[in-house]
Amino acid sequence: MKKLCTVFGHPIAHSLSPKIHQAFAKQFDFELTYTRTDVEGSFEQALKDFVHKGGSGANVTVPFKTQAYDLCREVSPAAHQAKAVNTLLWRHDHWYGTNTDGRGFVQDVVHNLEQSIEYKKILIFGAGGAVRGMLGPILNERPNAIWVANRTLKKAEELCHEFAMPNLKATDFDQLTQHAPYDIIINATSISDDFKGFDIDTEIFKEALVYDLMYSLDGRTPFLEWVKQFDAQELVDGIGMLVEQAALSFEVWFDCIPMTDEVLHQLRQD
Ligand code: NAP
Repeated sequence: MKKLCTVFGHPIAHSLSPKIHQAFAKQFDFELTYTRTDVEGSFEQALKDFVHKGGSGANVTVPFKTQAYDLCREVSPAAHQAKAVNTLLWRHDHWYGTNTDGRGFVQDVVHNLEQSIEYKKILIFGAGGAVRGMLGPILNERPNAIWVANRTLKKAEELCHEFAMPNLKATDFDQLTQHAPYDIIINATSISDDFKGFDIDTEIFKEALVYDLMYSLDGRTPFLEWVKQFDAQELVDGIGMLVEQAALSFEVWFDCIPMTDEVLHQLRQD
């Protein structure tokens, strides 16, 4: 039977998800139609229309992850903790939602990059939906400390308060050197293409693994282009996370685990 999946978002035209999921489906030799759904009106209506067309599995991206969570009758513990859903599965008469972003990130760092998170000191820029989804899985890896720095400090403080872990704290941009050095620095902000850098002491990047959730096929992003002058140990974009979170979604829909290495390799070559 032909399966129908989609990714909901706005804008969505450049999403790599269809390509990734088609490549996964090929590994198991089944036919998958995976579309992009640009939601300009009601997200709830878009979900109804999708089910009406026979759709059963979907990814959700910016800006609908929180709404997706609200529209699910059943959610996983990961989605419950994140209050955000990036993976939807239609179960007979209702949506089940989960969040694979965080586990996708951890899988990329620990498995693909072979870097342990345990006992590490981590700095995260941003306190939006992606960070919500990532904190639980990162905390499960038992880091020494996580500092969350956000343009709107209050949002970072509220997020850390919600998770209530002694090794998770919010920080202002101008106090970053006080908590340094960091082993891993993550950019989870949605800065634009004309990003020229944060007004911070750039010494903090020295020797750190710098991971940008944003991605590009050549691995260059505005954030990494800025950081590359500051002697980081390694600069990594978020394409590995994208493929890993997609593999976890695929498993939710089809109950089979695709191989990610070759898909990642294929994307980098495009
Ligand atoms: P979001 O919920 O909209 O949050 C955006 C965050 O960026 C907020 O913390 C916001 O700070 C901050 N921000 C925006 N513009 C900024 C600026 N000019 N300077 C400083 N901070 C700024 O977005 P999200 O869902 O968390 O996604 C964040 C990024 O991660 C996006 O680029 C998204 O594409 C990427 N992502 C990648 C993957 C992957 O698989 N690789 C998965 C998920 C997300 P304020 O609170 O102050 O507004």
